[in-house]
Amino acid sequence: MRKLIFATNNKHKLEEVKDVSLGQIKILSLKEINCFDDIPETANTLEGNALMKAQYIYDKYGYDCFADDTGLEVEALDGRPGVYSARYAGEEQNSENNMQKLLSELNGIENRKAQFRTVVALIEKGHARYFKGIIKGHITLSPRGNAGFGYDPVFIPDGFSQTFAELGSELKNKISHRALAINELKKYLNLQ
Ligand code: IMP
Repeated sequence: MRKLIFATNNKHKLEEVKDVSLGQIKILSLKEINCFDDIPETANTLEGNALMKAQYIYDKYGYDCFADDTGLEVEALDGRPGVYSARYAGEEQNSENNMQKLLSELNGIENRKAQFRTVVALIEKGHARYFKGIIKGHITLSPRGNAGFGYDPVFIPDGFSQTFAELGSELKNKISHRALAINELKKYLNLQ
């Protein structure tokens, strides 16, 4: 089975990607290769950050590797927080504070349209390739639900009336930005 390192310290992302991979790719986390580094992600695009994370691991260990960078892009905020989603409310990267900041910026604004965009960068034998996934939806008036992570409690995907955090991981992993990007990666690897 094809073995790839997933350059993330985010246990939720790891679970989601393993779930979408259906055991068709052997995914190793950073912990499993004894990497505990705080990998820099200082680019100003999702592509740039995904590449930085994957390249860091490839350069240090020489393993084929992929990384994911995701942003929540809100139409009425001209695409913000976008690539700055993790640190939207400050360096401590607190999801509660990020959601509260988002809801207060959207206070009184009728257009709640938003999308999650994921870029996966794969480095294979030193060559980079990108795989993308977008899901469109809208932002709620207040957080709802306990599943998932990050902005999941305030995002309702189009065609549904519940947030990702209410819909749960089984549904999220069928339709999400990350699932779409990983399915593109699987197609490239001839696993679909
Ligand atoms: P990053 O891709 O780890 O840089 O994530 C950027 C920000 O978006 C962080 O605040 C994450 O918590 C959040 N985020 C990433 N993926 C998701 C998701 O699937 N649902 C909700 N929030 C997410």
